[in-house]
Amino acid sequence: MLLICNKTMFWVIMTRMKTDTKCIQCGYESKNGEPRILPIYQSTTYQYDSSDQLAQLFDLSAPGHIYSRISNPTLDWVEKKVNALCGGVGAMLTASGQSATLISILNITGAGDNFLCFGNLYGGTTNLFSVTFKRLGIEARFIDYSMSDEEIEKRIDERTTLIFGETIANPSLEVLDIERYARLAHKHHMPLIVDNTFATPVLCRPFEFGADIVVHSTSKYMDGHATSIGGCIIDSGKTDWSNYPMMNEPDESYHGVVYTRDFGSAAYITKARVQLMRDLGTTAQPMTAFLLNLGLETLHLRIRKHSQNALMVAQHLKDHNKVAWVNYPGLESDPWHELAIKYLDGGLSSGVVSFGTINGKNGAVKFMDSLKMAKIVCHVADLRTCVLHPASTTHRQLTDEQLEWAGIKPEFIRFSVGIEDIEDIIADIDQALESV
Ligand SMILES: *Cc1c(COP(=O)(O)O)cnc(C)c1O
Repeated sequence: MLLICNKTMFWVIMTRMKTDTKCIQCGYESKNGEPRILPIYQSTTYQYDSSDQLAQLFDLSAPGHIYSRISNPTLDWVEKKVNALCGGVGAMLTASGQSATLISILNITGAGDNFLCFGNLYGGTTNLFSVTFKRLGIEARFIDYSMSDEEIEKRIDERTTLIFGETIANPSLEVLDIERYARLAHKHHMPLIVDNTFATPVLCRPFEFGADIVVHSTSKYMDGHATSIGGCIIDSGKTDWSNYPMMNEPDESYHGVVYTRDFGSAAYITKARVQLMRDLGTTAQPMTAFLLNLGLETLHLRIRKHSQNALMVAQHLKDHNKVAWVNYPGLESDPWHELAIKYLDGGLSSGVVSFGTINGKNGAVKFMDSLKMAKIVCHVADLRTCVLHPASTTHRQLTDEQLEWAGIKPEFIRFSVGIEDIEDIIADIDQALESV
């Protein structure tokens, strides 16, 4: 199919491999005498022997790369790996997690439309939804996990296009009941879009539970080394698009292509690329795709180690007299533990632990400033232990009401447990807690 390279026999075998093998083996395939490692095609453009050949590409009637804003061979191989890991029909890398979210929604939503999203989302996503989308005439309607299906359905009308949630919410660490909200979305013939950034496709594959579209910020565990900003969108290929004019009406910018008719189950991801990536240009770069691929090769090892270390940190904090409360879905006592068991590979809950010290905001700041190994950074979910105070940083723009929705108290500390030796991590925490 168009812009999706031919599926080789090895590709078919690869899609049936286990997740850990896919992390390493899927994506780039070397042929006889070629480089064994994914080449970086640092080229904006591609040469064709005749104008007619290139014209066919512009009509989307023949496969091939036109211009690296739309597609690039290095990105293409990494997209294949991400897609295989998630079990979709196609994936697209983007310049950032933010642009993945942006495109995933704009692809099926326009001015006058609205969509449902949970209030506990990443702060940057909440800004995008409640400020920038509002300016574009798109209304984000916030819902939360305590609402009944009936209460949620009251917010759905004929202009509602989708439901959006995070597998493990950043930073409240609430776990999304994917099956429940997929069922609800499908009852209204719309997709559930899941931001699976914290879980990664190793711990959770939302398509297996009925989600339709998955987005990731690859800047977190997938890259894993805090080297590059990136994102991706993956299409399950299973959504009913019959109520979406944008998917079923001719696209005049491609001489009347109709995405559902011409691209079948890959309609959504093809439109995202050939229309929105072409027009918005939030493209990932070959070098960052290469780095992402390196990260993905060890994702399965890292994310399990992150989860094991984080569970030990959470257990340790829970019993500490300087700690007021701990959230971690991997803890048996956590309200989200049951859902973590179901959705997160038996309860492996990634490396992020949130907790509050005693003495409110002062206690939190004292603790953070006293850490020696763990650094204060505006990042999360990479292999170095790091820490952040969301209320004064990532979630600073939010109103008090939004902060409450997002589950963020003044003493809230987002602690991102790395893959160093657990004894060193706990020693650093203990000496810092002494100052509280
Ligand atoms: C970081 C993050 C994003 C945004 O991704 P960027 O790569 O920083 O643009 C989106 N969702 C979640 C859950 C995140 O943690």
